[in-house]
Amino acid sequence: MTTPIYYVNAAPHLGHAYTTIAADVMARHHRQRGDEVFFLTGTDEHGEPVADAAHALGIEPQQLADQNAQRFKALAPEIEASNDFFIRTTDPQHEAVVRSVLSRVRENGYVYEGTYEGWYCPRCADFKAESEIDEGNRCPIHHIELTREREDNYFFALSAFQERLERLYSQRDDFVAPRTRYNEALSFIRSGLRDVPLTRHKLTWGVSVPWDPEHVFYVWFDALLNYYSALSYAPAPAGFAPDGDLIKRLWPASYHLIAKDILRFHAVYWPALLMAAEIELPEHIFVHGYLLMDGEKMSKSLGNVLDPFAVIERFGADALRFYLLREVPFGQDGSVSTTSFELRYESELANELGNLASRTIGMLMRYRDGAVPDAELDPVLELDFAGLPQRVAAQIDAAELTLALDEIWQRVRRLNRYVEERAPWRLARETDGADQLDAVLASLVQGLHAVAVLLWPYIPASTERLLAALGSEDVSLAGAELGARRVEHVRELESLFPKEPAAGPA
Ligand SMILES: [Zn+2]
Repeated sequence: MTTPIYYVNAAPHLGHAYTTIAADVMARHHRQRGDEVFFLTGTDEHGEPVADAAHALGIEPQQLADQNAQRFKALAPEIEASNDFFIRTTDPQHEAVVRSVLSRVRENGYVYEGTYEGWYCPRCADFKAESEIDEGNRCPIHHIELTREREDNYFFALSAFQERLERLYSQRDDFVAPRTRYNEALSFIRSGLRDVPLTRHKLTWGVSVPWDPEHVFYVWFDALLNYYSALSYAPAPAGFAPDGDLIKRLWPASYHLIAKDILRFHAVYWPALLMAAEIELPEHIFVHGYLLMDGEKMSKSLGNVLDPFAVIERFGADALRFYLLREVPFGQDGSVSTTSFELRYESELANELGNLASRTIGMLMRYRDGAVPDAELDPVLELDFAGLPQRVAAQIDAAELTLALDEIWQRVRRLNRYVEERAPWRLARETDGADQLDAVLASLVQGLHAVAVLLWPYIPASTERLLAALGSEDVSLAGAELGARRVEHVRELESLFPKEPAAGPA
């Protein structure tokens, strides 16, 4: 499971947090299923934008890369990302793999010398095709004026992979998801591939080209190879049998998670490069959309930027994770705001899940001293929960992280309705209500256990607290079957999502 490596010319923001959180949900979900997971994230540190930003600050590119890489590295634990490794493209081991793989691409006959002339965006570090240039010769992403560049380069023969890429897309319709992005990548391929520069001549901040040290590799090829190179030197994750060769064990990547703006590099250049190097292709590329503020891409001047760090400080990382995956249908663009965040926090996390947990545990303490009755589960609830873990897993396999969360949340609501329907407080007053009350309390707490396990990838810290109160630490997916893991005793639980969380920073 990989995130893109983040570019160090700027500081981390909500968009980075979003991608990493989504990848983390998938990584945790697969660990729940008992899969062997290696979750990779890191930083992309070479190329013109970093060199330019460093020169503007009067420091060396390496110094800027070091500073900002630390900030990205620090972001991961703040958002509870469980990554197994953090790669930096200035790691010498990564650079060695870049040199060796790209030399093999050359030996295989896919590299040649030529002259490139075209419109170039220094912020994208990319040449633009005529069809994607905005009015006034501007970058469609950065809206800055493009420069005309002419450079002697080595080229990667992308056009040689036209047919093989078309075949790949026709044979594997789940290679890119969602479908709109698959179609977009395929139509780019069908429009006719042109060869692309593999190296830069005028630049020095990059991985030097072994067969011509006056060149450095174009930053995109250097960066893409991180997914592969990391396995050549990352330590094996805890729990893995000590077997040295992670590449043999884990390659190809199961899931590359990316945002839609880097689709072409991942869905076209990357598979072609791997074909050229005779390396197996990744299994899936999942593409998410943008988080928008009032329909616009986030902008500080609008003054309503959802600051991930402020949210985490006041409400905790779980609340941010839940909100982002609940509010914006995963894969699409969607608006986020502090207003809708606070609404969901209060109405869903606090009122629905928080209350369900506290009233369930509260009633067990009040009526049964915390001991869960050994009663048959209510068949009505059993029916409502039947097949739930399998459905959630299928949704996540299809990159539907929001639909999966909705499946679970419907059960949170179902359990709250169940409390209202059965009114345990009434049963407790009835002289012959003890058996029924036993069944209701047992069913309720098993349902709570099931949703806690299923929600763990999304809100790990809160569900771990909840599961601890239910006397269970096991988060494996099998335990999400209703009644699969009997809860025997409950303990007091402090409010999972307090209505008045820590006062925010001014
Ligand atoms: Zn640009």
